[in-house]
Amino acid sequence: MSTQLFHHALYIVEHACKGCTHCMKRCPTQAIRIAKGKARIDNGLCIECGQCMAVCPNNAIAIEQDSLSQLESYTTRVAIVPAVFFAQFDDSVTLGQIITTLYALGFTHLYLAETGVDILTVLEAKDQSSSLPLISNFCPSVQRLIQVRFPLLVGNLSTLRSPAQVTAMFARSELKTLADGLGVFYFSPCAAKIAQFKTEGSEEHRLFDGIINFDTAYNLVCAYLAKHKEAVQEETRAFSFPVCTRKALRWSLVKGQSSNHSGRCLAVDEMHNVIEFLEILEDQQDTNLQFLELDACAEGCVGGILTVRNRFLATERLRHWSSTVPKQLDQNLCERILRHKSAFYKNLNLEPAAPLEVLGLDTDHAKALQKLRKAERILAALPGIDCGLCGSPSCKALAEDIAKSQASIRQCVVLKLKSAKDLNSLARIWGERSIAADGLKDDQA
Ligand code: SF4
Ligand code: SF4
Repeated sequence: MSTQLFHHALYIVEHACKGCTHCMKRCPTQAIRIAKGKARIDNGLCIECGQCMAVCPNNAIAIEQDSLSQLESYTTRVAIVPAVFFAQFDDSVTLGQIITTLYALGFTHLYLAETGVDILTVLEAKDQSSSLPLISNFCPSVQRLIQVRFPLLVGNLSTLRSPAQVTAMFARSELKTLADGLGVFYFSPCAAKIAQFKTEGSEEHRLFDGIINFDTAYNLVCAYLAKHKEAVQEETRAFSFPVCTRKALRWSLVKGQSSNHSGRCLAVDEMHNVIEFLEILEDQQDTNLQFLELDACAEGCVGGILTVRNRFLATERLRHWSSTVPKQLDQNLCERILRHKSAFYKNLNLEPAAPLEVLGLDTDHAKALQKLRKAERILAALPGIDCGLCGSPSCKALAEDIAKSQASIRQCVVLKLKSAKDLNSLARIWGERSIAADGLKDDQA
């Protein structure tokens, strides 16, 4: 079990939160509770999927971000930009204009994050995980989901570094003569990648000096182009913006990885589908699958919570762009990769992931069993309609919260309505249900 403290990029903006429960009901790991009218996230359970933020009607959930003013601390400023970022713009903005604007905003070198895909191919990187099906670790939210909810599948997770990390290593190696004052910034489409790259002590942490959120970068580019569009020339800066292969450009789209893997593969996107599939896999580990690509967001990274454009239009632009680049790797880029291969020596695999220690009912086994029985008794007395008005996402979750002394049976508003009149009106809505509080006396203290 790992007890590593993960960085969390999502947070509740308390003054804006109305305690409406939308986020709590959507959270796939039941990480949210409402207390004193405000949402509260249990960081031990949160996997940074951003689903809560997507459904909050009050903009009360936000994602931390680094300021572009951080660039001033560095003399060499590298941007590692996923191809999906370029697909956020419609066809009236050319790739050249976006690149030129990023230089104008202060970056001195640009690398496509997907360059890492080609580096891994050229170096014939091998995964150290041998359990089948191999599960891609490309989506950090899915990796955390498996660590939190599906510990039996942790051994199936790929150990290869993500393309963005490999690209950052490549950039640091190419620019090592400028190491003093070198800052490497990643453009992120989601909270999960921010959290992954900012977790203190992780192998990813030291590769990046800052993270720029997609929506912020998009707005900055649009604002610059609105003022300077006529002047922005389509310069080609081939040295620091190598063209990736077609397969690399499509890597973050659904089937981008699985279509390039040998053997029988499957791609599943959207969190509820991923959870459904992992539940099946946990029960029937003996599938014939060799590789599983799982994306928390719909359509892959184009559906990330920090993207700004309709995911289908973004997918179309990225596919169109990729259809114009060669399938074979550019010879010049290949030579550059081979020149720096010593920088990657024995460093392309990460430590295997471990299950995350999520506090269950109790760390002591005997006490946990006692609390489980208590939770079952409480659950039998609760109305079972999962209304969420108590501040827990379901009656079962409330029963467990009470068993852990983190909530009170008095939070159940249905049990509170004890007058015959109120019960009759409830019966009209929910039907006749037993809401006898037998056996709860001990639990009400
Ligand atoms: S969705 Fe969650 S964070 Fe947003 S207002 Fe409702 S309770 Fe608060
Ligand atoms: S980011 Fe996902 S896991 Fe975390 S609280 Fe929000 S919905 Fe739940």
